[in-house]
Amino acid sequence: MKKRVLAAAAAVAIAGPLLLAGSSQADPTTTPNGPWPPNDKENLSSIHSYEQLWGTLESIEKRAKGTFSVEPAPLQSNTGRDIPVVTVGDGPTSVMFIANQHGNEYVVSTGMVEVVRALAGNSASAREIRENLTVTIVPRVNVDGFDADVVDLAGNTTPWRQNFDTDCPAFCGFYADGRGYDINRYHSYTESAYDHPYEPGPDTNNPVPEAIAMRLLWDERQPEFSVDFHHQGTYVDDDGRMITGSVMWPNAEEEAENLGISEEFAETVTLSKRVVSEMLVNLNDLGHANITRYPGTTTPGIARNAYGLLGSGSVLYEARGGIGQKSRGYLAKQAYIAGMSVLSAAADGSLFTRSTEPADTIRERGDSVPNPHE
Ligand SMILES: [Zn+2]
Repeated sequence: MKKRVLAAAAAVAIAGPLLLAGSSQADPTTTPNGPWPPNDKENLSSIHSYEQLWGTLESIEKRAKGTFSVEPAPLQSNTGRDIPVVTVGDGPTSVMFIANQHGNEYVVSTGMVEVVRALAGNSASAREIRENLTVTIVPRVNVDGFDADVVDLAGNTTPWRQNFDTDCPAFCGFYADGRGYDINRYHSYTESAYDHPYEPGPDTNNPVPEAIAMRLLWDERQPEFSVDFHHQGTYVDDDGRMITGSVMWPNAEEEAENLGISEEFAETVTLSKRVVSEMLVNLNDLGHANITRYPGTTTPGIARNAYGLLGSGSVLYEARGGIGQKSRGYLAKQAYIAGMSVLSAAADGSLFTRSTEPADTIRERGDSVPNPHE
């Protein structure tokens, strides 16, 4: 895992000039929802530790306008740490954002903290969102994989992709030996949040508390749609331009058919494509954003498919990975724009009837940028 992080960092150094060649301006200036916070450099370059994340959210709460709360998720992480859940607004439409399910994909987490900060402010758009929506944001689901003070059985330290759990008694797919589970493969899409998605029939054997916690939250909040924020590697499109992000809607059609819910699932796919489309048009306004379709698998236990099968719109957002210090601010801002744009459009209602044409015509993701040092 460490090696992968280093490899990705090297890829950024190689691909950097491609980005510059493809962009017409250095600083993106267009945002759909009012000014980016004036101290953005400081906010966006800092990655919060577990304590700092809680501290930052609590300090935003102290000054927050309107309805705002920071509370622990329904379950703790596997090492017993509270996962912070922010709730903003008290409007009739529920929307849920989760980020950083994979512990080493943390810049989107910073973007979510900035969404929280903006929603707690006094701008007209923040007020409109708070009046019309109840927004649930989990900026960092995988608190342990990000910075728990633990060592896996091979001697690695965090951050890494999985949670921390050295014990897997059975059904160890999507489990890294001696380290932990891939949280984003263990979302139950059947009646109980505790169901093991790969053990046939109903049970309560789900071994991943962080995934159960998100599903319990989904049950409680009943979101109209959810967005799950991640990072991918570094890719280029057919023109050699760096891809700054990829997006995808649910595609577990086969499982939907098995469950006899194909029609309902088609509706959630349409809603999800509306969300993707709203993101795409707003991100296109943002300097050198270059967004493609994520080649997502049909695994039903990933958040994008599980929540889609449960009946909410569900979107995966993947920021470019391979994160050099310099591009962190830009990638955090891109996640911020993706999040704020869909909240604004949901708040004024336009999202729910908008055209899905941008999603229907999105380009496929291109080739990965190889690391010449491997
Ligand atoms: Zn991920």
